[in-house]
Amino acid sequence: MNIHEYQAKTILAKYGIPVPRGFVAYTAKEALENAEKLGGGLWVVKAQIHAGGRGKAGGVKLAKTKDEVKDYAAKMLGMTLVTHQTGPAGQEVKRIYIEEGSSIKKELYLSAVLDRVTSRITFIASSEGGMDIEEVAHKNPDAIKKVTIDPVTGYQQYHGRTIAFGLGLSNDIGSQLVDFMDKLYKAFMETDASQIEINPLIINGDGKLVALDAKFNFDDNALFRQPDVYAMRDEDEEDPLERKAAKFGLSYVKMDGNIGCMVNGAGLAMATMDIIKLYGGEPANFLDVGGGASKEKVMEAFKLIMSDPNVEGILVNIFGGIMRCDIIAEGIIAAAREISLDVPLVVRLAGTNVELGKKILASSGLAIQPADDLADAADKIVRAVGKKAAA
Ligand code: GDP
Ligand code: MN
Repeated sequence: MNIHEYQAKTILAKYGIPVPRGFVAYTAKEALENAEKLGGGLWVVKAQIHAGGRGKAGGVKLAKTKDEVKDYAAKMLGMTLVTHQTGPAGQEVKRIYIEEGSSIKKELYLSAVLDRVTSRITFIASSEGGMDIEEVAHKNPDAIKKVTIDPVTGYQQYHGRTIAFGLGLSNDIGSQLVDFMDKLYKAFMETDASQIEINPLIINGDGKLVALDAKFNFDDNALFRQPDVYAMRDEDEEDPLERKAAKFGLSYVKMDGNIGCMVNGAGLAMATMDIIKLYGGEPANFLDVGGGASKEKVMEAFKLIMSDPNVEGILVNIFGGIMRCDIIAEGIIAAAREISLDVPLVVRLAGTNVELGKKILASSGLAIQPADDLADAADKIVRAVGKKAAA
């Protein structure tokens, strides 16, 4: 799960990490009131969407007067922001953040991520702040410094000093960083984060380290014990199909291809997507209906797949372990009738009651293409929809 920048900064502030003062706004009037509350002579109006790259796309504006705050707010609210992270469709701005303006001496980069190779939390830092870390990694890899935290010892001051030294920071800024990272590590652990990115981390005009931007990702599997984090969820930022799937207990991830997939088990679902690609096709989704799916769940899964307008064919790949193939076959037929399925459908069944399942499908009168194994299934569905160039 992701949260907005202003919410991320609330968490940081709770852990004693310096962030600029600010207030969220939903209207231009509120934005103006926020600027009045903040006082001072420089404000930042920031679009709140779950994507970075807002600055370059016009989603971060410095205002020198309160009238400017109001004007920027009015323009930004309701606009569709297209950044390199939103995809071409962009994301509509429904909330903005009004912040006191900061003077910037230097922009740094700092993040903490769960490194899947070492299974440890790793800090990544760079003296090239404000830029995409991927770009820095590509053009100037030496500017990136990393330190991995042993979970037994947790964060230690020397971790911070290693980074401070690597970035060539002064003693004073270095000490601030040691403390900053200490607090960031605590925030990471206690909120079950999977990633925290501060880009830029600035040295301001007064020589203080301040988190000017903040991005959090959380481990979805830990949300049950993070009610405060879960309360920050903004459904407007989530894919509507994925939201609907979650309601029915289906694990669905939308992709860009045209072959809908309905599979049981995450591993088999991944393998199905792989083999579709191997045969030159493009999956439209990842979908795991789970181990003990009912006929109703299979029907919902079908409707979900077909609500994606890009889908031109469906591949069903079910291994009946706990789930019986005859139940699946009935679900497929019921769903195909109810939604008047009009795209090619290839079904590969294996496992418990497979013969009965196949018989039910064959006698349904529907144009279902049975397949014997994974390769046969992939070959048939890719032929049926025609090969497409990768998106
Ligand atoms: P992003 O583009 O979505 O990552 O949004 P950021 O919050 O990182 O803002 C983008 C850029 O706007 C930063 O890298 C800064 O250069 C600039 N910026 C943001 N806030 C301030 C501020 O308070 N003062 C100044 N001078 N620049 C700012
Ligand atoms: Mn940023």
